[in-house]
Amino acid sequence: MGAHSDTRTEVSDVRRFWEGLGLPGLVDVHTHFMPERVLRKVWAYFDALGPLTGGIEWPITYRKEEGERADLLREFGVRAFTAMLYPHKPGMARPLNDWAAGFAGRTPDCLHTATLFPEPGVAEYVRDAVEAGARVFKAHVQVGAYDPADASLDEVWGLLAEAGVPVVIHCGSGPAPGRHTGPGPVARVLERHPRLRLIVAHLGMPEYEDFLDLAERYGEVRLDTTMAFTDFSERMMPFPRRALPRLAALGDRVLLGSDFPNIPYPYVHQLDALERLGLGEAWLRAVCHDNAARLFGLPGEDLPV
Ligand SMILES: [Zn+2]
Repeated sequence: MGAHSDTRTEVSDVRRFWEGLGLPGLVDVHTHFMPERVLRKVWAYFDALGPLTGGIEWPITYRKEEGERADLLREFGVRAFTAMLYPHKPGMARPLNDWAAGFAGRTPDCLHTATLFPEPGVAEYVRDAVEAGARVFKAHVQVGAYDPADASLDEVWGLLAEAGVPVVIHCGSGPAPGRHTGPGPVARVLERHPRLRLIVAHLGMPEYEDFLDLAERYGEVRLDTTMAFTDFSERMMPFPRRALPRLAALGDRVLLGSDFPNIPYPYVHQLDALERLGLGEAWLRAVCHDNAARLFGLPGEDLPV
């Protein structure tokens, strides 16, 4: 089969998944769009098996042009997605936020995304981004190698908690640990800002149970499914079966995330991996669409968050 018919098959597999659940589509809170030059560097990093990948073979499945990538998400039936982007050094966040505002402007189904870094001026540009309409932030503790509980971010967390703007935060120690990854620093942030809407990326992989603890303790903490339960992740960082009932009980605060396009398998595999947990159709409907639709107030969702 050629690449074209592979895509057609995959599109129909993805659509069959959500149509079978009676959903209007999917909402994916963890997809990556960033300036082309930055994305090429990320791909080169994965290709070279950089240390933060855990030294694991990581072929990028959707190495396509930006427009093609967005179109493919639409064909899959992803109603809303994000542009997860993140700095690894000072001075990058503001230009990334400028780019993301432009991208959201020309991509109405992308939730306007912004990012941050502990540096002088961070509170100012975060406030600017919120005022410009940012709906979600991305914080990458592993790549950024900063402590999220650093005093320089205190004002920012307070501001985002007050604005109710969710922050997808890569804070688990997968695929490789960073200086400030793990549940400790995030727990310190939440002690000070208990209403902060943190969305723990990758379900906190591999410290799944520690991050479930935090979600059980703080009602605004959510978890995204990004790469969790896939064959790829289960081989290295399996989700402990004993924690499945806790995941089921948090069904209104688990959100579909995929890491598209930077994934080493087809998109539909993330959906199959959720289905085979056996938590049932109501759980899948909430996770794959309803929870995020409510959180972001998508059209057709009039339930208050
Ligand atoms: Zn990601």
